[in-house]
Amino acid sequence: TVGLSLEQTKQMSLLVAEKIIAAEPLLSQADRDLGDGDHGLGMARGFTALTKELTENPHDNLRDLYQAAGNALLTTMGGASGVVFGSLFLAGGKTMHGAEFFGSHELSHLLSQSLKDVMSRGGAKPGDKTMIDALHPAAEAAKANIDKPLAESIKAVAAAAEDGKEASKAMIATMGRAKTLGEKTIGLPDAGAISVTIILSTMADFINA
Ligand code: ADP
Ligand code: MG
Ligand code: MG
Repeated sequence: TVGLSLEQTKQMSLLVAEKIIAAEPLLSQADRDLGDGDHGLGMARGFTALTKELTENPHDNLRDLYQAAGNALLTTMGGASGVVFGSLFLAGGKTMHGAEFFGSHELSHLLSQSLKDVMSRGGAKPGDKTMIDALHPAAEAAKANIDKPLAESIKAVAAAAEDGKEASKAMIATMGRAKTLGEKTIGLPDAGAISVTIILSTMADFINA
C-alpha cells in the first residue's frame, strides 16, 4: 500500500494516545528515578488534550491533523517537554503539505524534521541520555528504509527506537535535572526515550495489525 489514509492516521494517533496514557505510572517512575517524576503526568495531560482535539475537531488533511495534534501537546504540556514532544507531531505539520497518505516517506521526513527541531531548540545531542537517543536511531532507520513499504519501515523504526532506549541505560545524563545525578544515572533508561519507544511501537503494531 501507499500508506495510511487520513482517517487511519487519526485512528493510529488515538491508539498512540491511549498507550501513552496507560503508561503513565511507568513513565512517572522512570522520571522519578532520574528526574522530578512528572513525565507520566505531563504526557498523560498532553495526550488527553490530543485525543480531545482529534475527536472533537475536523481536520482536512494530514498536515492539519499533525499541526493540531502538535499544538495540543505544546500548549497543554508546557515547558521543555511540551516543545520536545509537541515537535514530534508539529514536524508532521511542517513536512506533510499535500501528502494524501502517511507512508514511508512521510514517516522519514517527520522523524528527521522532529530530530532537527528538538536538537536545535533543546541543545541536546545523541549520547546525552534524552529522548534523542531513541529518536535519532529511529530517524536513521526511517531514512534507510524509505523505499520499503510502510509496514516494513515502521517495524525497523520501532526496533531502532527500542535499541536506542536500551542503549540510553549505559549513558550518563548531561541535560536537565538528571545531570546532577551524574554516574548514578547509569543502568536506568531515560523516561522520554521510553515515551518515544511507546509511540513508535504502537504505530508499528497499528500498521501491522
Ligand atoms: P521536565 O524535564 O520538564 O520535568 P518531563 O519530565 O516531561 O519534563 O520530560 C523529561 C524528558 O524530556 C527527559 O526524559 C528527556 O527525554 C526529555 N528532554 C528534556 N530536556 C530535553 C532536551 N533538551 N532535549 C531533548 N529531550 C529532552
Ligand atoms: Mg520531569
Ligand atoms: Mg518537571
